[in-house]
Parts: sequence; structure tokens; C-alpha cells
Amino acid sequence: MTAHQPIRIAGAGPSGLSAAIALARAGYDVEVHEAKRDVGMRFIGDLQIIEGSSEREPVPHFLDRIGIARNFYFRPADWSTFYDAAGNARVIRSSEPYGYFIKRGAEEGTLDRGLLAQAREAGARVIFNSRISEADIMATGPATPDGLAKEMTWHTGEPERIDVFFNHKLSPGGYSYLFILDGLATFGCAIVSSFKQIDDFFDHSLQAAQSLHRFELPEQRRYGYSYMNFHLKTRATANGSRFVGEAAGFQDYLFGLGIRYALTSGWLAAQSIIHGRDFDELWREALAGKQETSLVNRFLYESGGNFGLSMFVRQAARTKDFQGYLRSWHARTWWKRLLSPIVRRVWQHRGRCQHKPGEHWCRSRDTEMRVPELGPIQDP
Ligand SMILES: Cc1cc2nc3c(=O)[nH]c(=O)nc-3n(C[C@H](O)[C@H](O)[C@H](O)COP(=O)(O)OP(=O)(O)OC[C@H]3O[C@@H](n4cnc5c(N)ncnc54)[C@H](O)[C@@H]3O)c2cc1C
Repeated sequence: MTAHQPIRIAGAGPSGLSAAIALARAGYDVEVHEAKRDVGMRFIGDLQIIEGSSEREPVPHFLDRIGIARNFYFRPADWSTFYDAAGNARVIRSSEPYGYFIKRGAEEGTLDRGLLAQAREAGARVIFNSRISEADIMATGPATPDGLAKEMTWHTGEPERIDVFFNHKLSPGGYSYLFILDGLATFGCAIVSSFKQIDDFFDHSLQAAQSLHRFELPEQRRYGYSYMNFHLKTRATANGSRFVGEAAGFQDYLFGLGIRYALTSGWLAAQSIIHGRDFDELWREALAGKQETSLVNRFLYESGGNFGLSMFVRQAARTKDFQGYLRSWHARTWWKRLLSPIVRRVWQHRGRCQHKPGEHWCRSRDTEMRVPELGPIQDP
């Protein structure tokens, strides 16, 4: 591959654009093909977080290292309120930010718009309404739901809140959340099973959140459904393509956080091209271990039931440093290494699935599950 051959990237999400930025800056001719008419179309201007606990490197340093400027909304979070299933509220504090809030979608100020601007400034061409099935870098996002979320966003003048509700009855295997920051509110319900009932889970979670600590809901709101991918593979390459982000199942499975994985894997794919390195070697070194640990974490999260969740909430509030507490969850301890093959065996899916590329481990699922039409829903 020479610097004069165009490099094609499928998908203008965080993984595709981080690859595009690095490659274009290194002098490559880069073409990004995006299936939708704009970036961020599967999101609704919602607040998401770039987590800062799975690695020692703080998020701002990480972004600097991979050459991403903060030309988007970017706000540190070192506090929160967690609720257990009994409705107990516990205040969480962190000496260092446990993450940084960003916005997702096509609007000004989102991560998606910021990355698009940086990719263009570096010289990459971004072609919208262009769905392609072959590319040097496949950054096409999730292909099948391993987790599903329904979200709602609105503008508000209410006081700021970062509330997370842990209750397996209201959000099976997942959690619901209310973020109000700088006048923008996001309420969401994320689940990992019983996908057909997402609307009911969303409604009941919302009612429960309202009864615990009321908030105003104006007429003007946006809603959307979206899903998340997780699987473990030995290779993220096939037929000359490098698969990055959720297209390769890269995700922290504990809380369904994939942005850091997406930015990292996109950047690593670019490095593998620039320096002639094996992409599979690069991502395995950086991501395989922590992804495997996140599978075990998810197993513990689900197996402990609501009792386990209330212990988690209590412990998170007891420590003065929530980021450090979360980091201890990400540690690759000997017992998590031992548990990992057992979890793989217990949850293993056999047979066909839509995950890419090639041989991998994924979780068995209810074959009858049906998901609602994805993406933003028309405003009521
Ligand atoms: C409701 C919700 C909340 C979330 N909250 C968080 C959070 O707080 N923190 C966090 O870290 N993660 C969060 N995630 C996960 C995170 O959003 C994803 O992991 C991340 O967006 C993955 O980036 P990506 O580039 O792999 O894929 P995407 O962001 O999905 O981008 C893929 C792009 O490829 C395009 N595309 C698809 N097929 C083709 C094709 N054939 N040709 C061309 N283009 C194509 C799509 O239109 C899309 O624009 C959340 C996910 C959801 C659903």
C-alpha cells in the first residue's frame, strides 16, 4: 500500500473517523463512505460518556495520544447518584473523573460532528449516502443486538443530575439512567434480554425514576432505539479488511461502553497501515485482555441479581474514589482469568449469527427476539 492509493473506510462513526484522521494526517488519500446522509444518525443528541476507568491513562491524555482534539462538548464527571432496586439513593464521588460526558448525533457540538470536522481538516473525503460492503477498514458499527437501549432527550432548565438506576426487574441485565447537564437531559433504559418488551421496561423505569426524584418532562422530546454489539474473536481481519469498533464486537461488556474501544481500534488500524504492522497483533495487545475481563464482569453483574447490584452501589458510595473502585473491576485478576473459560462455556452461542468477521465467541440468545425498528423515532 502506498500513500497514493486511496484507503477506503466504511462507516463514519468514532472508529472510522479516528482511523481516517490518523491516516489523512499521515499523508494517505482517505475516502470515508457513510451509509446515512450525515454522521451520528443512530443517536438523538444524547449524552454519552467516554469512560476513564478501564485504563490508567486519563481520557484527555488518551485523546491527545491518538491525535483527537476536543472540538466537541466534553465535560468531566466525578460525581453521580446511584439507586438500588429498593430505591436507596447513594452519592458517588471520585477523586479523578471516572469519565467525560460527550454528546452523540448529527447536531453541532457532538463527538460525531467534531470528528467529522477533524477528518475533513486532515484531508479525508467523506461521502454520505454511500453504503459499501468492502473496504480497507470496516467501521460499520453493530450488526446484531447483544444489548438494546431506548432513549429520550429534551432541553431543560432543571438542576444537574447524573442518576443511574440499578434494578434487574426494570432493566434486565442493564440499567437505566438520567443525565441532566448544561440544559440537556437524557433518559435511557438499556437491557440485555427480553428485547421485545423494551417499551414496557422503558416506561416502568421512567415511572420508577419519577417516583424516586421527580423531574419535568416537556412536550418536546426526541426518542430513539439503538443496539450494541459484543463478541470475542481471535482475528479482526478478513479478506484484506481490518474490522474496527463495534463492527468487530469491540466493547466494554459490563456497561456497554464502546467509544473508547472504537477510537482506539480505529487508530490502531491506521497505525497498522502506516507502520506496516499486523493489526491483529496490535488490537490483541491493547484490547483483548480487557474485553475478556469485561465478559466476566458482566457475568458477575447479571448473576448477582438485585442483591449483587445493591452491594455494588453500596461499595461504590463507600469509597472516596469511584474511578479507582471501577478500575479494580477492570483489573485482570487471576480469578477472573480462571472464570473466563467457564463463562464462555456457560453462555456460548452455537450456530449462525451476524457477528463479523469470521470465527469468534458470542453469547447465546433467545432466537425469537425481535427488536423494534432502530434509530430516532419521530418526535411526538
Ligand atoms: C443508546 C446507547 C448509548 C450508549 N452510550 C455509550 C456511552 O455512554 N459510552 C460509550 O463508550 N459507549 C456508549 N454506547 C456505545 C457507543 O455508542 C458505540 O460503541 C460506538 O458508537 C461505536 O462506534 P463505531 O464507530 O464502531 O460504530 P457507530 O457509531 O455505529 O458508527 C458506524 C457508522 O457506520 C455506518 N455504516 C453502517 N454500515 C455501513 C456500510 N455498509 N457502509 C457505510 N457506512 C455504514 C453507520 O451508519 C454509522 O454511521 C452507547 C450505545 C447506545 C446504543
